[in-house]
Amino acid sequence: MKKIYYFDNAATRPISKVAFEAMLPYLTDGYGNPSSVYSVGRDAKKAIEDARRTVATAIGAMPEEIYFTGSGTESNNWAIRSTVEQNKDKGKHIISSAIEHPAVMSTLKYLEKQGCDVTYLDVNEYGQVSLDELKKAIRSDTVLITIMMANNEVGTILPSAEIGKIAKENNVSFHTDAVQAVGHIEVDVKEIGADMLTLSGHKLGGAKGVGVLYVRKGLNLPPFIHGGGQERGKRSGTENVAGIVSLAAALNDVLPRIPLNHVSQMRDKLIEGLLKITRSRLTGDPVNRLPGIASFVFEGIEGESILLLLDQCGIDASSGSACSSGSLDPSHVLLALGLPHEIAHGSLRFSICENNTDEDIDYVLEKLPGIVAKLRSMSPVWNEE
Ligand SMILES: *Cc1c(COP(=O)(O)O)cnc(C)c1O
Repeated sequence: MKKIYYFDNAATRPISKVAFEAMLPYLTDGYGNPSSVYSVGRDAKKAIEDARRTVATAIGAMPEEIYFTGSGTESNNWAIRSTVEQNKDKGKHIISSAIEHPAVMSTLKYLEKQGCDVTYLDVNEYGQVSLDELKKAIRSDTVLITIMMANNEVGTILPSAEIGKIAKENNVSFHTDAVQAVGHIEVDVKEIGADMLTLSGHKLGGAKGVGVLYVRKGLNLPPFIHGGGQERGKRSGTENVAGIVSLAAALNDVLPRIPLNHVSQMRDKLIEGLLKITRSRLTGDPVNRLPGIASFVFEGIEGESILLLLDQCGIDASSGSACSSGSLDPSHVLLALGLPHEIAHGSLRFSICENNTDEDIDYVLEKLPGIVAKLRSMSPVWNEE
């Protein structure tokens, strides 16, 4: 089989070996419904409660503050929509950023149609929001601040603890999408001052289709999915036992290795090598940056074309230039960083995890400069100065 050089770990990560092995019994002999009273059901229930403790410990929370959901997307929807519902007497104003994941962005767009008023804070060229602007944006009818902890496209780590402090001083709920952060950098809900925090299994080595919403004790967030009363009445639906177990096992596996020094070394080697290509730039924050994300723009060419030629070499990466809707507009994130349209089109993201090796990085550094040169030689908009 041809070797695949997989560099799209921020889109999804292959399930880790320990996570896979931990979940297997719950797909076979451990088939019980956690709500049942007999032993196979009780075993499943116990597995979920063990997983809940693991997740709680991992982010500095208490087990009763952890709710399992069907995805990071669901957790984001729940946090945002239920906070609006809960505060309908206080107001309908939400503060967010211009670089949120579609799971937050589309929820906010939907709520705007329902009469909410959303302030999207601008970001600077590194993808950072201004804390002063955040303070100025808060009004008496502000019910929620939802700002991501780390950006999935350009890897910027945002100042969540400072944001949380401002939220608290102003008595506004703070939710953060930490899907790209948990399992990659240290995350502590108390340090951040988060009232709600989202994470997802498949971005940290667990199975797909399982997420978590941390909800601070005392917040009493209304439920989002109604039914049989699972997850203490907050999130009904028979639990994805195997998925939940895999998420906890993946966390236990990855947490002791943070800081992911080898991952950030590979990232830095890739950045250093690819910035030697003329008229290439790093996107996102050069310092406050996720260990696994190396993101670039290459002038004069399309990210999509680079991806196709990389694919021919067995390299899987991604580009922000074509969003999932199939449109060729550059991503809202790159535009928010102030990149002109034509340059944002040439974006390319490598997302690295511990499965990658130094040889993988060398292979990219060997192949990509030639691909960029070839595409530029064919590009009508490229002119060598
Ligand atoms: C992947 C991702 C999500 C969505 O998580 P799913 O579990 O795939 O629904 C949300 N936010 C960010 C920042 C992500 O990277």
